[in-house]
Amino acid sequence: MNEGAHIASAADAVAAAGTAGTADGVGTAGAADPPDRRRAALAGIRALLLDMDGVVVLKGAPLPGAAEAVRALSRRGTPFRVLTNSSLWSRDSLSGLLSKAGIEIEPTAIVTALSASAALARRRWPGRPLYVLAGPDALREFDGQWLLTDEEAAAGGPASAVVVGDAGAGFTWPRLNAAFRLVRGGSRLVAMHRNPWWLTPEGVTLDSGAFVRALEFATGRRAFLVGKPAGAFFEAACESLGVTKGSADGGRDAVLMVGDDLRSDVAGAKRVGLRAAFVLSGKHGPADLAAARARGASLLPDVVALTLSDVVAALD
Ligand SMILES: [Mg+2]
Repeated sequence: MNEGAHIASAADAVAAAGTAGTADGVGTAGAADPPDRRRAALAGIRALLLDMDGVVVLKGAPLPGAAEAVRALSRRGTPFRVLTNSSLWSRDSLSGLLSKAGIEIEPTAIVTALSASAALARRRWPGRPLYVLAGPDALREFDGQWLLTDEEAAAGGPASAVVVGDAGAGFTWPRLNAAFRLVRGGSRLVAMHRNPWWLTPEGVTLDSGAFVRALEFATGRRAFLVGKPAGAFFEAACESLGVTKGSADGGRDAVLMVGDDLRSDVAGAKRVGLRAAFVLSGKHGPADLAAARARGASLLPDVVALTLSDVVAALD
């Protein structure tokens, strides 16, 4: 699909939707912690990291109460960043899409696996050629960097790195074969994320993690992971909030990750010392949490809530 059309259709869906559809977890209120338990678990939280899909929006439409919850954070003066593995759109476009949904978040308050990958490439391979598998709008994050065309990549580059994001229908065999040949020839393989699937207006949808795995399988090389659950991704977001490991006021324990994915959001955040709220408004539900508990997972959420709104209401 044409990327511009995709953005326009997503924007229309967001603009047209007054309320989001009912997510898996909503309606299973018993799975969420009661308010007093939520307040106790969130005592001392001073900054938030918000996942986007399943927390603020779902299937391109705003989740109920999300816009007001974001406004409440601003009113409270509680700093936050959106921390998302989204790699389809630049931060400017994401901010615009959210604004059409009534959710006002500046591009500078958004950290994406895409923007972090572009920043990594700028640091690691300044002025060097890259082959980036991503949509046209996503490529805006790589402004000023040397990007190979498909023809140059197919001709053998060379490239310092092959960077894989969400290319959607752009994951064609010629592009994947060019990427395979470059990595086999020595280019570093960088994965914006490894998400296996996500929820779109059309339902469960294949994500770019499957293509990363394909390239790893064929080349025998392991990709460098940029997005969640990589610890460096959370740490960079904390630094942008002015929170470092040993900083006063609780350090990372005063930062709360709010997410709908038990592995990428919750376990990833817990591993680097953040607190984590699991919301039931997205892709994972009570059954996934029960399964994680049953298998003895150690990186479980500090609090379970139905929505972002319920999390913000429990802050002290
Ligand atoms: Mg999510």
